[in-house]
Amino acid sequence: MKEKFEHRLEQTVGPERVLREEPMRLHTTFRIGGPAQYMVSPRTKEEVREVVRLCREEEMPWYIIGNGSNLLVSDRGYRGVVIQLYRDFGDIRTEGTSIFARAGASLARIAAEALKNSLTGFEFAAGIPGTLGGACIMNAGAYGGEMKDVLEQVTVLDGQGEIKTLEKGELDMGYRTSRAAREGYVVLEAALSLEKGEADEIRARMEDLKERRTSKQPLEYPSAGSTFKRPEGYFAGKLIQDAGLRGFRVGDAMVSEKHCGFVINCGSATAADVDRLIRQVQERVRESSGVTLEPEVKRLGEF
Ligand SMILES: Cc1cc2nc3c(=O)[nH]c(=O)nc-3n(C[C@H](O)[C@H](O)[C@H](O)COP(=O)(O)OP(=O)(O)OC[C@H]3O[C@@H](n4cnc5c(N)ncnc54)[C@H](O)[C@@H]3O)c2cc1C
Repeated sequence: MKEKFEHRLEQTVGPERVLREEPMRLHTTFRIGGPAQYMVSPRTKEEVREVVRLCREEEMPWYIIGNGSNLLVSDRGYRGVVIQLYRDFGDIRTEGTSIFARAGASLARIAAEALKNSLTGFEFAAGIPGTLGGACIMNAGAYGGEMKDVLEQVTVLDGQGEIKTLEKGELDMGYRTSRAAREGYVVLEAALSLEKGEADEIRARMEDLKERRTSKQPLEYPSAGSTFKRPEGYFAGKLIQDAGLRGFRVGDAMVSEKHCGFVINCGSATAADVDRLIRQVQERVRESSGVTLEPEVKRLGEF
Protein backbone atom coordinates (compact mmCIF):
# COMPACT_ATOMS: atom_id res chain seq x y z
CA MET A 1 0.00 0.00 0.00
CA LYS A 2 2.76 2.40 1.11
CA GLU A 3 5.02 1.23 -1.74
CA LYS A 4 2.22 1.81 -4.25
CA PHE A 5 1.65 5.35 -2.99
CA GLU A 6 5.37 6.14 -3.09
CA HIS A 7 5.62 4.72 -6.58
CA ARG A 8 2.72 6.85 -7.83
CA LEU A 9 4.22 9.93 -6.16
CA GLU A 10 7.53 9.25 -7.90
CA GLN A 11 5.80 8.71 -11.23
CA THR A 12 4.05 12.07 -10.85
CA VAL A 13 6.99 14.34 -10.01
CA GLY A 14 10.04 12.18 -10.76
CA PRO A 15 11.88 10.02 -8.17
CA GLU A 16 14.51 12.68 -7.46
CA ARG A 17 11.75 15.06 -6.34
CA VAL A 18 10.36 12.79 -3.63
CA LEU A 19 12.23 13.09 -0.35
CA ARG A 20 11.50 10.79 2.58
CA GLU A 21 11.71 11.76 6.25
CA GLU A 22 13.00 15.17 5.21
CA PRO A 23 13.93 17.39 8.21
CA MET A 24 11.67 20.41 8.05
CA ARG A 25 14.17 22.52 9.96
CA LEU A 26 16.03 22.71 6.63
CA HIS A 27 12.98 24.32 5.01
CA THR A 28 11.81 26.83 7.61
CA THR A 29 13.35 30.17 8.56
CA PHE A 30 12.90 29.22 12.24
CA ARG A 31 15.32 26.31 11.54
CA ILE A 32 12.98 24.15 13.59
CA GLY A 33 10.89 21.09 12.72
CA GLY A 34 11.02 17.31 12.59
CA PRO A 35 10.77 15.14 9.49
CA ALA A 36 8.08 15.25 6.84
CA GLN A 37 7.12 11.72 5.85
CA TYR A 38 7.38 12.87 2.22
CA MET A 39 8.39 16.18 0.71
CA VAL A 40 7.85 16.75 -2.99
CA SER A 41 8.68 19.69 -5.23
CA PRO A 42 6.55 19.72 -8.36
CA ARG A 43 7.58 21.76 -11.39
CA THR A 44 4.25 22.30 -13.16
CA LYS A 45 0.65 23.12 -12.20
CA GLU A 46 -0.42 19.77 -13.59
CA GLU A 47 2.04 18.00 -11.30
CA VAL A 48 0.67 19.94 -8.31
CA ARG A 49 -2.88 18.96 -9.28
CA GLU A 50 -1.87 15.30 -9.70
CA VAL A 51 -0.05 15.16 -6.34
CA VAL A 52 -3.06 16.67 -4.56
CA ARG A 53 -5.44 14.31 -6.40
CA LEU A 54 -3.29 11.31 -5.45
CA CYS A 55 -3.18 12.38 -1.78
CA ARG A 56 -6.95 12.83 -1.73
CA GLU A 57 -7.50 9.47 -3.37
CA GLU A 58 -5.18 7.70 -0.91
CA GLU A 59 -6.43 9.73 2.06
CA MET A 60 -2.92 10.97 2.70
CA PRO A 61 -2.69 14.37 4.48
CA TRP A 62 -0.87 17.06 2.46
CA TYR A 63 0.32 20.59 3.13
CA ILE A 64 1.71 23.31 0.87
CA ILE A 65 4.77 25.33 1.83
CA GLY A 66 6.75 28.08 0.14
CA ASN A 67 9.89 29.30 1.93
CA GLY A 68 8.59 28.26 5.36
CA SER A 69 9.05 31.81 6.64
CA ASN A 70 5.79 31.87 8.55
CA LEU A 71 5.79 28.30 9.75
CA LEU A 72 6.39 26.41 12.99
CA VAL A 73 6.68 22.67 12.34
CA SER A 74 6.29 20.23 15.24
CA ASP A 75 9.38 18.47 16.59
CA ARG A 76 7.64 15.22 15.64
CA GLY A 77 7.38 16.45 12.07
CA TYR A 78 4.46 15.80 9.76
CA ARG A 79 2.93 12.49 8.70
CA GLY A 80 1.85 13.19 5.17
CA VAL A 81 3.12 14.95 2.07
CA VAL A 82 4.66 18.40 2.22
CA ILE A 83 4.35 19.97 -1.23
CA GLN A 84 6.99 22.66 -1.61
CA LEU A 85 6.41 25.35 -4.23
CA TYR A 86 9.66 27.26 -4.23
CA ARG A 87 12.72 27.56 -6.48
CA ASP A 88 11.61 25.11 -9.15
CA PHE A 89 8.21 26.74 -9.39
CA GLY A 90 9.30 30.33 -9.62
CA ASP A 91 9.36 31.74 -13.16
CA ILE A 92 8.83 35.49 -13.47
CA ARG A 93 8.11 37.58 -16.57
CA THR A 94 7.15 41.18 -17.21
CA GLU A 95 4.73 42.53 -19.80
CA GLY A 96 4.29 46.28 -19.80
CA THR A 97 3.51 47.25 -16.21
CA SER A 98 2.40 43.74 -15.20
CA ILE A 99 4.54 41.06 -13.63
CA PHE A 100 3.47 37.42 -13.96
CA ALA A 101 5.05 34.96 -11.58
CA ARG A 102 4.54 31.42 -10.35
CA ALA A 103 3.83 30.73 -6.71
CA GLY A 104 7.37 29.73 -5.77
CA ALA A 105 8.98 32.99 -6.92
CA SER A 106 10.49 34.76 -3.93
CA LEU A 107 9.23 38.28 -3.22
CA ALA A 108 12.87 39.45 -3.33
CA ARG A 109 13.27 38.16 -6.90
CA ILE A 110 9.98 39.74 -7.97
CA ALA A 111 11.10 43.05 -6.42
CA ALA A 112 14.38 42.81 -8.33
CA GLU A 113 12.43 42.22 -11.54
CA ALA A 114 10.25 45.25 -10.80
CA LEU A 115 13.34 47.39 -10.21
CA LYS A 116 14.97 46.11 -13.42
CA ASN A 117 11.90 47.25 -15.36
CA SER A 118 11.46 50.53 -13.42
CA LEU A 119 8.12 49.41 -12.01
CA THR A 120 6.98 50.87 -8.72
CA GLY A 121 4.47 49.58 -6.14
CA PHE A 122 6.27 46.45 -4.94
CA GLU A 123 9.05 48.05 -2.88
CA PHE A 124 7.23 47.19 0.37
CA ALA A 125 7.68 43.45 -0.28
CA ALA A 126 11.36 43.39 -1.22
CA GLY A 127 12.48 42.45 2.31
CA ILE A 128 9.74 39.92 3.14
CA PRO A 129 11.44 36.52 2.93
CA GLY A 130 8.46 34.59 1.53
CA THR A 131 7.25 33.29 -1.81
CA LEU A 132 4.49 34.79 -3.92
CA GLY A 133 2.19 31.87 -2.98
CA GLY A 134 2.69 32.37 0.75
CA ALA A 135 2.29 36.12 0.36
CA CYS A 136 -1.01 35.74 -1.54
CA ILE A 137 -2.35 33.40 1.16
CA MET A 138 -1.22 35.63 4.04
CA ASN A 139 -1.85 38.96 2.28
CA ALA A 140 1.69 39.78 3.35
CA GLY A 141 2.36 43.44 3.96
CA ALA A 142 4.85 45.93 5.34
CA TYR A 143 5.47 49.67 5.57
CA GLY A 144 2.01 50.63 4.35
CA GLY A 145 1.83 48.20 1.42
CA GLU A 146 -0.02 44.90 1.14
CA MET A 147 -0.31 42.21 -1.52
CA LYS A 148 -3.94 43.14 -2.08
CA ASP A 149 -2.83 46.54 -3.41
CA VAL A 150 -0.89 44.99 -6.29
CA LEU A 151 -2.59 41.68 -7.10
CA GLU A 152 -4.55 41.67 -10.33
CA GLN A 153 -5.27 37.94 -10.70
CA VAL A 154 -4.46 34.76 -8.82
CA THR A 155 -4.60 31.30 -10.37
CA VAL A 156 -5.45 28.57 -7.87
CA LEU A 157 -6.20 24.89 -7.54
CA ASP A 158 -9.56 24.54 -5.79
CA GLY A 159 -11.00 21.79 -3.59
CA GLN A 160 -12.53 20.03 -6.61
CA GLY A 161 -9.15 19.79 -8.31
CA GLU A 162 -10.01 22.53 -10.81
CA ILE A 163 -7.48 25.17 -11.81
CA LYS A 164 -9.19 28.54 -11.98
CA THR A 165 -8.30 32.22 -12.06
CA LEU A 166 -9.66 34.66 -9.49
CA GLU A 167 -9.84 38.32 -10.50
CA LYS A 168 -8.90 41.18 -8.18
CA GLY A 169 -12.52 41.64 -7.00
CA GLU A 170 -12.81 37.96 -6.04
CA LEU A 171 -9.70 37.72 -3.86
CA ASP A 172 -11.37 39.08 -0.75
CA MET A 173 -8.16 39.77 1.15
CA GLY A 174 -8.05 41.06 4.71
CA TYR A 175 -5.38 41.60 7.36
CA ARG A 176 -3.07 38.55 7.00
CA THR A 177 -5.83 36.53 5.37
CA SER A 178 -7.44 35.89 2.01
CA ARG A 179 -10.24 33.99 0.34
CA ALA A 180 -7.60 31.56 -0.95
CA ALA A 181 -6.58 30.81 2.67
CA ARG A 182 -10.16 30.43 3.87
CA GLU A 183 -11.10 28.09 1.02
CA GLY A 184 -7.91 26.06 1.23
CA TYR A 185 -6.87 26.86 -2.35
CA VAL A 186 -3.37 26.18 -3.61
CA VAL A 187 -1.93 29.33 -5.19
CA LEU A 188 -0.24 28.45 -8.49
CA GLU A 189 0.54 31.81 -10.07
CA ALA A 190 -0.41 35.47 -9.95
CA ALA A 191 -0.35 38.66 -11.96
CA LEU A 192 0.73 41.88 -10.29
CA SER A 193 -0.22 45.29 -11.58
CA LEU A 194 2.48 47.95 -10.96
CA GLU A 195 3.17 51.44 -12.29
CA LYS A 196 5.95 52.96 -14.31
CA GLY A 197 8.43 54.72 -12.02
CA GLU A 198 12.03 55.94 -11.77
CA ALA A 199 14.60 53.19 -11.15
CA ASP A 200 16.70 55.40 -8.85
CA GLU A 201 13.72 56.22 -6.65
CA ILE A 202 12.60 52.60 -6.52
CA ARG A 203 16.11 51.48 -5.54
CA ALA A 204 16.37 54.19 -2.89
CA ARG A 205 13.01 53.21 -1.38
CA MET A 206 14.02 49.52 -1.26
CA GLU A 207 17.33 50.39 0.37
CA ASP A 208 15.63 52.60 2.92
CA LEU A 209 13.19 49.84 3.90
CA LYS A 210 16.03 47.30 4.06
CA GLU A 211 17.94 49.59 6.38
CA ARG A 212 14.86 50.00 8.60
CA ARG A 213 14.45 46.22 8.78
CA THR A 214 18.10 45.59 9.61
CA SER A 215 18.15 48.21 12.34
CA LYS A 216 14.83 47.17 13.98
CA GLN A 217 14.52 43.43 13.42
CA PRO A 218 16.67 40.59 14.82
CA LEU A 219 17.60 39.33 11.36
CA GLU A 220 20.77 37.76 12.74
CA TYR A 221 18.63 35.02 14.39
CA PRO A 222 16.31 32.43 12.84
CA SER A 223 12.65 33.41 13.28
CA ALA A 224 9.35 33.51 11.45
CA GLY A 225 9.06 37.30 11.54
CA SER A 226 6.30 38.84 13.65
CA THR A 227 4.99 36.02 15.77
CA PHE A 228 1.62 37.62 16.48
CA LYS A 229 -0.90 39.52 14.40
CA ARG A 230 -1.30 43.20 15.15
CA PRO A 231 -4.31 43.48 17.49
CA GLU A 232 -6.73 46.24 16.46
CA GLY A 233 -5.54 49.51 18.01
CA TYR A 234 -2.28 48.11 19.46
CA PHE A 235 1.17 46.87 18.50
CA ALA A 236 1.95 43.32 19.60
CA GLY A 237 5.62 44.15 20.29
CA LYS A 238 4.71 47.07 22.58
CA LEU A 239 2.17 44.98 24.54
CA ILE A 240 4.78 42.25 25.02
CA GLN A 241 7.41 44.75 26.11
CA ASP A 242 4.96 46.43 28.53
CA ALA A 243 4.21 43.01 30.03
CA GLY A 244 7.90 42.84 30.98
CA LEU A 245 8.70 40.08 28.52
CA ARG A 246 11.67 41.53 26.63
CA GLY A 247 14.23 38.70 26.51
CA PHE A 248 11.78 36.23 28.10
CA ARG A 249 12.93 32.72 27.38
CA VAL A 250 11.73 29.13 27.22
CA GLY A 251 14.65 26.83 26.43
CA ASP A 252 16.38 28.34 23.41
CA ALA A 253 13.28 30.24 22.23
CA MET A 254 13.32 33.89 23.23
CA VAL A 255 11.33 37.11 22.87
CA SER A 256 13.83 39.20 20.91
CA GLU A 257 15.45 42.00 22.89
CA LYS A 258 15.73 44.01 19.69
CA HIS A 259 12.06 43.66 18.67
CA CYS A 260 9.63 42.14 21.17
CA GLY A 261 7.22 41.16 18.37
CA PHE A 262 9.69 38.51 17.20
CA VAL A 263 10.27 35.15 18.85
CA ILE A 264 13.75 34.01 17.87
CA ASN A 265 15.62 30.72 17.90
CA CYS A 266 18.81 31.33 19.89
CA GLY A 267 20.41 28.16 18.58
CA SER A 268 18.71 24.90 19.40
CA ALA A 269 15.11 25.90 20.19
CA THR A 270 12.52 23.19 19.68
CA ALA A 271 9.01 23.67 18.38
CA ALA A 272 7.80 22.77 21.88
CA ASP A 273 9.92 25.66 23.32
CA VAL A 274 8.43 28.12 20.83
CA ASP A 275 4.90 26.82 21.38
CA ARG A 276 5.26 27.12 25.17
CA LEU A 277 6.76 30.59 24.85
CA ILE A 278 3.90 31.75 22.61
CA ARG A 279 1.30 30.48 25.10
CA GLN A 280 3.04 32.12 28.04
CA VAL A 281 3.36 35.42 26.20
CA GLN A 282 -0.36 35.27 25.35
CA GLU A 283 -1.24 34.62 28.98
CA ARG A 284 1.01 37.35 30.41
CA VAL A 285 -0.15 39.94 27.87
CA ARG A 286 -3.78 39.07 28.55
CA GLU A 287 -3.17 39.56 32.28
CA SER A 288 -1.34 42.85 31.85
CA SER A 289 -3.43 44.51 29.13
CA GLY A 290 -6.58 42.44 28.60
CA VAL A 291 -5.63 41.94 24.93
CA THR A 292 -5.56 38.46 23.41
CA LEU A 293 -2.69 38.07 20.97
CA GLU A 294 -3.38 35.83 18.02
CA PRO A 295 -0.41 34.02 16.44
CA GLU A 296 0.41 34.99 12.87
CA VAL A 297 2.77 32.03 12.55
CA LYS A 298 1.14 28.85 11.19
CA ARG A 299 1.64 25.55 12.98
CA LEU A 300 2.14 22.27 11.16
CA GLY A 301 2.02 18.84 12.79
CA GLU A 302 1.07 17.83 16.34
CA PHE A 303 1.75 20.06 19.33
C1 LIG B 1 12.65 37.97 9.12
C2 LIG B 1 11.22 37.90 8.67
C3 LIG B 1 10.54 39.06 8.36
C4 LIG B 1 9.21 39.00 7.93
N1 LIG B 1 8.57 40.17 7.62
C5 LIG B 1 7.28 40.13 7.20
C6 LIG B 1 6.60 41.34 6.86
O1 LIG B 1 7.15 42.43 6.90
N2 LIG B 1 5.31 41.24 6.46
C7 LIG B 1 4.66 40.04 6.37
O2 LIG B 1 3.48 40.01 5.98
N3 LIG B 1 5.28 38.88 6.69
C8 LIG B 1 6.57 38.90 7.10
N4 LIG B 1 7.21 37.72 7.42
C9 LIG B 1 6.46 36.45 7.40
C10 LIG B 1 6.49 35.67 6.06
O3 LIG B 1 7.67 35.99 5.32
C11 LIG B 1 5.26 35.95 5.20
O4 LIG B 1 4.08 35.55 5.86
C12 LIG B 1 5.32 35.23 3.84
O5 LIG B 1 4.26 35.66 3.04
C13 LIG B 1 5.24 33.71 3.97
O6 LIG B 1 5.61 33.15 2.71
P1 LIG B 1 6.25 31.69 2.63
O7 LIG B 1 6.41 31.36 1.19
O8 LIG B 1 7.47 31.60 3.44
O9 LIG B 1 5.07 30.84 3.26
P2 LIG B 1 5.19 29.58 4.25
O10 LIG B 1 5.74 30.01 5.55
O11 LIG B 1 5.86 28.46 3.55
O12 LIG B 1 3.63 29.26 4.44
C14 LIG B 1 2.80 30.18 5.13
C15 LIG B 1 1.34 29.78 4.90
O13 LIG B 1 1.02 29.94 3.52
C16 LIG B 1 0.62 28.69 2.95
N5 LIG B 1 1.18 28.64 1.58
C17 LIG B 1 2.45 28.89 1.18
N6 LIG B 1 2.53 28.81 -0.16
C18 LIG B 1 1.30 28.51 -0.61
C19 LIG B 1 0.72 28.29 -1.90
N7 LIG B 1 1.42 28.37 -3.02
N8 LIG B 1 -0.61 27.99 -1.98
C20 LIG B 1 -1.35 27.88 -0.86
N9 LIG B 1 -0.88 28.06 0.39
C21 LIG B 1 0.43 28.38 0.50
C22 LIG B 1 1.16 27.61 3.86
O14 LIG B 1 0.37 26.43 3.78
C23 LIG B 1 1.07 28.30 5.22
O15 LIG B 1 -0.23 28.21 5.73
C24 LIG B 1 8.54 37.75 7.83
C25 LIG B 1 9.24 36.57 8.15
C26 LIG B 1 10.57 36.64 8.55
C27 LIG B 1 11.29 35.36 8.86
